[in-house]
Amino acid sequence: MTKTYLLKPVPTATFKIDYAANLNPQQLEAVRWIDGPALTLAGAGSGKTRTITYRTAYLIESGIAPGNILLLTFTNKAAREMVSRVETLLGTALPGGMYAGTFHHVGNRLLRRYAPTLGYDPRFSIIDPEDAEDLMDICIGACGLKSKAPRHEGRRFPKAGTLIGVHSYALNTGRALPDCVLEKYPSYQHEIDSITQVLKSYESRKKQLNLMDYDDLLINWLRLLREQSEVADALRQNFRYLMVDEYQDTNTLQGEIIDRLSCGTHGSETANLMVVGDDAQSIYAFRGANYENILRFPERYPNCQVFKLESNYRSSPQICALASASIAQNERQFQKELLAIRPVGELPALVPTPNPRVQAEFVAQRVLELRDEGVALNEMACLYRSHYQSLELQLELTRRGIPFVIRSGLRFFEQAHVKDILAFLRAIYNPHDEIAWKRLLRLLPAIGAQSADKIWQCLQTQGSSAEIVFKSPALTSLLRRPTQARSLGLLQDLFSALARLGLEQCPARHLDLIYDDFYRRYVESHFDNPRERCEDLIQLTVFSRQYPDVGTFLAELSLLGELGGEELQAENPADKEQLVLSTIHRAKGLEWQAVFLLWAAENHFPSVPSLQDPARLEEERRLFYVAVTRAKDWLHLTYPIVNDTRAGASGQMALQRPSRFIEELDEGLYEPWQLYAAETDAVAAQALSFQDPVYLPLEEPA
Ligand code: ATP
Ligand code: MG
Repeated sequence: MTKTYLLKPVPTATFKIDYAANLNPQQLEAVRWIDGPALTLAGAGSGKTRTITYRTAYLIESGIAPGNILLLTFTNKAAREMVSRVETLLGTALPGGMYAGTFHHVGNRLLRRYAPTLGYDPRFSIIDPEDAEDLMDICIGACGLKSKAPRHEGRRFPKAGTLIGVHSYALNTGRALPDCVLEKYPSYQHEIDSITQVLKSYESRKKQLNLMDYDDLLINWLRLLREQSEVADALRQNFRYLMVDEYQDTNTLQGEIIDRLSCGTHGSETANLMVVGDDAQSIYAFRGANYENILRFPERYPNCQVFKLESNYRSSPQICALASASIAQNERQFQKELLAIRPVGELPALVPTPNPRVQAEFVAQRVLELRDEGVALNEMACLYRSHYQSLELQLELTRRGIPFVIRSGLRFFEQAHVKDILAFLRAIYNPHDEIAWKRLLRLLPAIGAQSADKIWQCLQTQGSSAEIVFKSPALTSLLRRPTQARSLGLLQDLFSALARLGLEQCPARHLDLIYDDFYRRYVESHFDNPRERCEDLIQLTVFSRQYPDVGTFLAELSLLGELGGEELQAENPADKEQLVLSTIHRAKGLEWQAVFLLWAAENHFPSVPSLQDPARLEEERRLFYVAVTRAKDWLHLTYPIVNDTRAGASGQMALQRPSRFIEELDEGLYEPWQLYAAETDAVAAQALSFQDPVYLPLEEPA
């Protein structure tokens, strides 16, 4: 007899998080939307990022495996913060399967697995822009174009950096190289054939050496989706839930990756794609971002749901009013409502200062003042259009002992000593990495470019491991000078020890070895600030302890270089209370209680080249909008009236006006501050203690 067995209804998911209490109705609707493509288009500070963070938690609470979710963000740090926020919300650690990070980061993870289908070894190395330039330089030489003699109309062949830039621009915008050369460097249009030849050689060398530059991580990811239908299907099956933050700054390549991942070959299957962004914050067109991606989203996904978030939770009404009035001057934009919901705060301050030095003094003093009032240093940021605009401030902060972290400029991993020591790791990880080998070989006594080349050739042709090649007769007969022989011996010992460690060990052990046995002495004898550099290297070793093996560490590092060393700094909790210095571009998506915008002077912001082109000028205004909308409570717009540190070629000091982005605003939107120097006593006091107020913000001196 057949037994009947009652199948009970599947229990509905129970949610730990009270979504309705933490989100407004519009955000809640977006969080709960899991039935197809959706676009959340909303102004700054309206909770777009918060929405996708809660949405991730919601998906997981609904029973969706983290491994089926792909979250693409502007920085890896943002991704980590979002994941850790989800973990806090859920009260549990997420299983490691969730893919979250920048396009480059995720591209790297996928290519480690699937690159062999494109003919790569999965142990490819990633080269950062500086290495890419070195390689391009080698290619320019190999094509016989390195001569210093002028070529066309007195101009030399373009530099490696220029070629990298234009090549990358063409790839990321999906446009033909000649068009891009014409747009960016019209004076090089006569060189297009030679440029094409060099770029071909660059591409084939990278392939031959098993290297990928940042663009390759996107291009090869896209190739997987275009050319490898099985892989593409597997990826689509896997990433059923896609979310993209800061979608307005995706470029054509990234746009296509998303489109191909979400609109599968499965026809009727709905793509669970949610993109969020703000067209008014699109600031990367100069690097190929295409904000048509966001504007045309509803055309590409006709059944998409559009969510609008209309309350600004971040900034005081005064800051919101200034930001809205500014962006309203742009013609090309979506009209958006943005209601300030926070209580009344202070008017933004416009602070002209006599010169850049006083500008720095003012900022430093005001920072200390706010800190005394209870605002932590890491709740304050100094933003600027270009990195050089931070130099006086860096000096002033150092002088006053105010800790700060720089999120722009020379990045931790771009420094020579860091790159030197990492070259050893790269060479043992990918023995075909020509750039790494040549870099490390040239560190040795009596080994110059030529000898490095000979050693490199031997390494490639002999096909045995490095420590064997170093004592091979073929090589020792080529390099016979006693110092050269000693250098080879040194290398042989070091590489034998590294080989004994193997690649599966934590990289801190390798770094310790390279540092103790060789590199510390190099630093001491070759740099004028060995102490700081050694300190950096020790920090690097500490940082590397969190990685299980050499490969994971290197992949992670090469992508850190993408956005700066801030992640390394964050590892040291004692230093966490630091003032932030950043270009506006790198401040995207972030917020602080107090923001200082430096050098808000005409000809510095907007930048001079943008003045002739209405589209570029609008992009500069969007940049201004991004800057001011980072502030929650205090916004200071400052500029030096006399630019005495950067007098022009004539040596004349220029009087400066405030930026047009300020002059075009209604004067009631900000409060002008006039600085005045305190009396002699106070000036004397300043010499004794930098903490004493010297310049006081007042409407009128008493
Ligand atoms: P941006 O355009 O600058 O990237 P955004 O739209 O992503 O901004 P968020 O960073 O998500 O905005 O949110 C801005 C601030 O407002 C954050 O501090 C966030 O926690 C807060 N916030 C957003 N929505 C709410 C809400 N419903 N309740 C309370 N706080 C909120
Ligand atoms: Mg955001």
